[in-house]
Amino acid sequence: MELKHKTAIITGAGKGIGKAAALSLAKEGVHLGLIARTTADLEALQAQLTGEYGVQVYIAAADISRREEAERALGLLIRQLGSLDILINNAGIASFGKLAEMEPEQWESIIQTNLMGTYYVTRAALPTMLEQSSGSIINIASTAGERGFATGSAYCASKFAVLGMTEALMQEVRKSNIRVTALTPSTVNTELAVKAGLPIGDEDRMMQAEDVAELILTALKLPQRVFLKTAGIWTTNPQ
Ligand code: NAP
Repeated sequence: MELKHKTAIITGAGKGIGKAAALSLAKEGVHLGLIARTTADLEALQAQLTGEYGVQVYIAAADISRREEAERALGLLIRQLGSLDILINNAGIASFGKLAEMEPEQWESIIQTNLMGTYYVTRAALPTMLEQSSGSIINIASTAGERGFATGSAYCASKFAVLGMTEALMQEVRKSNIRVTALTPSTVNTELAVKAGLPIGDEDRMMQAEDVAELILTALKLPQRVFLKTAGIWTTNPQ
């Protein structure tokens, strides 16, 4: 499918996978709406993408874990873009600790961002896609949504939930020509992984944010009559 002149909103676009996805889509000529909490990251990326690829790039600083902020950002960006063909639900946080030892506020904030934030953003985007009778939604889950591990109770719960929500939504909207995909990367060499203390090993051999962006492009470029339901992407040999 040709992506040129399509419109996309990416959450968590300031760093890591979201930033790499923004770069890949801009190279394809996609006009972008970018969301993250840190305005400076968004402004820098906006200047880079506008300058290098000549696409329209709109930004909205918002915390997607807060419903009003998520709704305001989506409303603003959809108005500016004039349509919404692609939504990439990528914003997420991670931290790990034993269930009984993690502060409830920390546990809640992981669920509130990774699950509730994804829900708020999707809910705000759907009316436009349903009205258009077309669209693609890609949710960035994780291998942590497929198997639990010690110290991962909050993060795993959030990503298991994102996978369940993604599949349920897919069944709801595929008849309206809307494609819904869940991607489940294993560890990616980003700030999130480093700060959460995930083993990165040899940095050059580890999966990079650009690799996940490549998979996002592949999914989006499939003919509209089909969609990638779920896909995992792993590092070949991290040692
Ligand atoms: P990252 O480098 O930390 O980037 C995360 C981005 O999300 C940043 O731009 C951050 O910007 C934004 N963000 C975080 N919380 C937000 C909020 N409440 N509202 C709006 N924006 C928010 O992380 P990443 O590794 O690229 O992760 C992206 C996604 O991939 C996450 O959903 C993560 O769970 C998933 N994932 C990551 C890995 C991995 O190993 N890295 C593996 C599998 C899946 P601000 O802080 O400025 O808001």
